[in-house]
Amino acid sequence: MRHRAEAWRTIDGASFDVCVIGGGATGSGCALDAQLRGLRTVLIEAGDFASATSSRSTKLIHGGIRYLQEAVTDFDPGQYHVVKQALRERRFMLDNAPFLAHTMEFLVPCYRWWEVAYYGAGTKIYDRIAGKHNFFSSKFRPAKDSVARWPLLRGSGLKGAIVYADGQFDDARFAVALVQTFTEAGGEAVNHARVVSLRKYGSGKIIEAEIEDQLSGTRTNVQAKVFVNATGPFSDHIREMANPLLEKRLRLSKGVHILLPLDERTKDAMVVPKTDDGRVIFAIPWLGRLLVGTTDDEVTHDDELVVKRSEVDYLLQQLNRYLLRPFAAEDVVGGFAGVRPLVSSGKGSKTKKLLREHEVELDGESGLISVLGGKWTTYRAMAEDAINTVQRQLGIAVGGCVTREHPLSGSEGYSASYSQGLTTNYCISEATAKHLAEKFGSRATAVLELTKQEPALSAPLVVGYPAIRAEIAYSARNEMAATLDDVLERRTGLQFFSWKAAMEAAPVGGAVMQREMGWDDAETQRAVTEYVDTLSAWMQKIGLAKNEAKA
Ligand SMILES: Cc1cc2nc3c(=O)[nH]c(=O)nc-3n(C[C@H](O)[C@H](O)[C@H](O)COP(=O)(O)OP(=O)(O)OC[C@H]3O[C@@H](n4cnc5c(N)ncnc54)[C@H](O)[C@@H]3O)c2cc1C
Repeated sequence: MRHRAEAWRTIDGASFDVCVIGGGATGSGCALDAQLRGLRTVLIEAGDFASATSSRSTKLIHGGIRYLQEAVTDFDPGQYHVVKQALRERRFMLDNAPFLAHTMEFLVPCYRWWEVAYYGAGTKIYDRIAGKHNFFSSKFRPAKDSVARWPLLRGSGLKGAIVYADGQFDDARFAVALVQTFTEAGGEAVNHARVVSLRKYGSGKIIEAEIEDQLSGTRTNVQAKVFVNATGPFSDHIREMANPLLEKRLRLSKGVHILLPLDERTKDAMVVPKTDDGRVIFAIPWLGRLLVGTTDDEVTHDDELVVKRSEVDYLLQQLNRYLLRPFAAEDVVGGFAGVRPLVSSGKGSKTKKLLREHEVELDGESGLISVLGGKWTTYRAMAEDAINTVQRQLGIAVGGCVTREHPLSGSEGYSASYSQGLTTNYCISEATAKHLAEKFGSRATAVLELTKQEPALSAPLVVGYPAIRAEIAYSARNEMAATLDDVLERRTGLQFFSWKAAMEAAPVGGAVMQREMGWDDAETQRAVTEYVDTLSAWMQKIGLAKNEAKA
């Protein structure tokens, strides 16, 4: 990827075949697919890549065991279709980015024998639907073995667990890898650039987007033959910009996750199979933490998107029933809230009942193509459908999608033992080598080469954590990171690991960014203060004082 300043200069006033608006999972996937089919494509993202819903997921590459339950109990063929498609797509995500995605065992604890039969039958259907794409067959695991793999699980009364397979991934980094792959294929991308208006001339079709640089306030125009709206929860805004007569299509559902300390002996993910409001929640080892989520509550754009104390209490209450020792709110080390962009099926049904199926909508009036709904796991299939529609709109032959087997940047030369080579060749700790390999894949060597030129960059961002300063310099130069939030949350993942550690890292991160971005002292100080204040406010919302927080 270009440095952001250069990317802005490149798109300034330029013309493209396709302009994709929105750089989350959907937009990054669409941009890559279009560019690989030979269409000259630009990707415009208002915040950072994946800074909205796409970095706030449960990090599952899954068919959705809950949707399967609904497909069966509600005789819902739509839900069945989503599950089947997602189960097929899982494999492509794992194969195309092995450093960011892997299989995982999910354990459903059973305290009654009928639960063993019920969940056992359900997961067998899941296996069956996955067919040749299945990772391994679901099975029963006796109580003693289940507790050995999940030591915090309450053992008394446990009959055993049903274990099934799904995938897990690093959502924020997956989006960056998609954009990286897209730009390496010749596409142009720019982040922190918002589409503020769409212009039509003569024919009534959109031919130009006005874009505002969110960091400097500068504006420019970009022309394209086709515009794709991939703005997730914001899709109705762009649809309205294109054609005010279009009816709103989205309903928004907030989901929060919290992060807790992880007992390092924990091997599997645990499923709480039935919450008080009839859903499932997950407790998953994720990059050294226990990720617990999620909630499902209908919201609007006016609602504040932060984790609330009541949501923490709800998640802990559901989880603690299954544990030997309960967690308390004071144990929370981090958290995040996101909004699901769900395609409306009328006002009545609850958001948890709405399909996760996607829809590609062509507005005949303005020519806008909107990609609505869906899930991370199906981003590639969504992009394939959307770019087929783009080709139809351009009047060219439909086909040529190659994304099923197109490895993402960082996959080249990567293997399971990759981090061992880093430890030996660069004399770094195993923890840092593993961290870099899991974030950057085979590009980790490029990060570490920076430390050879400038040894100070090999220092950790915070003592005791694997992330190093070179990651920040690398991300600013090669991944278009432009703010402290970009580097501490999505590029290094430190903020997902610990709010407290991320706040401690802010001054050091700010100093590296100052040099990379050419900030002056006042700008750097402002960036650090704003970052720390935001995280402190989030902690206060759930009743944690900044100084008392656990790392
Ligand atoms: C709590 C939760 C848990 C989930 N868990 C999973 C899971 O485990 N597995 C799974 O498969 N799926 C999961 N999902 C669903 C998945 O995360 C989403 O379907 C997916 O991330 C949506 O991606 P998107 O690109 O459509 O939207 P977004 O990621 O929101 O991207 C849209 C982008 O458009 C940009 N934008 C908006 N307006 C403009 C504008 N005017 N100009 C330029 N850019 C603009 C935004 O800044 C944003 O980055 C979960 C969702 C939630 C909320």
